[in-house]
Amino acid sequence: MPDAGDSKLKKTLSIVGASAALLVLAIVVLRSTLLAPPSAGDLSRRRTVVDTKTGEVFNDFVIPENSTMPWANPKTGEKTLIQGEACYWTKDGKAKLEPTYVILNEMIGKPGPTICPDCGRTVSAHNPLPPADLLREAKKAAEAK
Ligand SMILES: [Zn+2]
Repeated sequence: MPDAGDSKLKKTLSIVGASAALLVLAIVVLRSTLLAPPSAGDLSRRRTVVDTKTGEVFNDFVIPENSTMPWANPKTGEKTLIQGEACYWTKDGKAKLEPTYVILNEMIGKPGPTICPDCGRTVSAHNPLPPADLLREAKKAAEAK
């Protein structure tokens, strides 16, 4: 038989526990709403996409939620947008800061390697960046302008 003091303590403890749970819940809710950077979700869904028909590049295209490639071109309404692969090389073997976005052959079912129309190099999925020193050089050149 628990005495009166014991049950009072239990009651107090359960109130404290419930309050703590509510506080945690409030923090979780706040974190995911008010305190979250407003564009975090948006940013993660932004891609540079290329229209497979027109070749037009859309920077910062917001991928619609629960959608799959190809995405609809907002201008034509056709599902012709796919993610572009960035190529940071120039024709003369240097790096550039503004990449050329290339449609990978494998993305559109074309055989053979994808050649960048700008620099003539082979572009692959997760195309590697030029070496850091070349990128630094490109940055320096851009700043000197
Ligand atoms: Zn290139």
